[in-house]
Formats: sequence, C-alpha cells, structure tokens
Amino acid sequence: MEQTLVLLKPSALQRGIVGEIINRFEKKGLRLAGMKMMQLTDEILDEHYAHLREKSFFRELKDSMMATPVIACCLEGVEAVQVVRAMTGATNGRAAAPGTIRGDYCMSNQHNIVHASDSPENAAIELARFFKREEIFGYEPATLSFKYSSGER
Ligand code: UDP
Ligand code: MG
Repeated sequence: MEQTLVLLKPSALQRGIVGEIINRFEKKGLRLAGMKMMQLTDEILDEHYAHLREKSFFRELKDSMMATPVIACCLEGVEAVQVVRAMTGATNGRAAAPGTIRGDYCMSNQHNIVHASDSPENAAIELARFFKREEIFGYEPATLSFKYSSGER
C-alpha cells in the first residue's frame, strides 16, 4: 500500500487546527503509520524545497517553516499520494476549492497549513528525509476489510 508525507505547517499549529486536520485524514480512512513533532532547520528545508531555491520567496518560506515546530505524518492507503493531494487542495488557499484543507482553512499562498507529497517517488524520498525507518509503524487496521474490497487492497 502507498505511503505519503504530510507536514502540518506552523500555520496549522498557530491556528490550533492540528487535531482537526489529522481528524480529516483519519475519517477518510487513511492509516496513520507515523507521527512526530519536529523543529525544521535550514538544511532540511534546502533539500525539501530545492525546487524553489531560485524563487524570491524562498527565504521567507523557509523562515515560515521554522517559526514553530511542525507535525510530520506518514499516512498510508491505496493511492494515498493522490488522495491526500486532492484533500489538500491547490497551493494558494484563496484558489483552493472549498472542502479541501487549504480551501477551508487558509487565505494564503504560503501559510497554507499543510505540505503533501506530490508523487509516489517524491513521497518515498520525503518520508526517508523526515522519518527514521523505526518511526514508521506497520499494523493492520481491524477495519481494513470495511475500507477496501479484496481486489482493491
Ligand atoms: N509557496 C509560496 N509562494 C508561492 C508558491 C509556493 O510561498 O508562490 C510555498 C507554499 O507554502 C507551498 C510551498 O511553497 O506550499 C511549496 O510550493 P509547491 O509549488 O511545491 O506547492 P505545494 O506542493 O505545497 O502545493
Ligand atoms: Mg510541492
């Protein structure tokens, strides 16, 4: 089954909506395979946001991601990467569709509550960046057979 990385950004912690966001993923049926609070650093953000290195907002983005600790989550499910991206919504909270996390909880292009991996390949790289192997837990949800048909899982 697929795993993906979600970071609850400082904007989520400051707004006091960490529980609500995690609750959405739980209710959807994604399995929480890992979760921890961590203080991000310049080094890890240089890697994580390498694709934005040349952007004018890069320094401000990194500072915003270090303003408080973040909550890193590993979520698992069938096609979890695209499911979580769809739940996250467009990057800019003002453009994100109502019903998505960004669409429901923010007004900003930068302080947009969550990070979510954008492909299975990047999810694997990002999970290895934020979690040690022993911090990802495998356990079988008792509800598995009610979440997916046998052909789906
Ligand atoms: N970002 C920003 N200004 C922009 C575009 C992006 O501050 O014009 C920030 C925003 O916090 C976003 C992050 O950079 O979530 C990563 O950008 P990316 O294009 O990867 O968007 P995402 O995958 O998070 O939707
Ligand atoms: Mg991205």
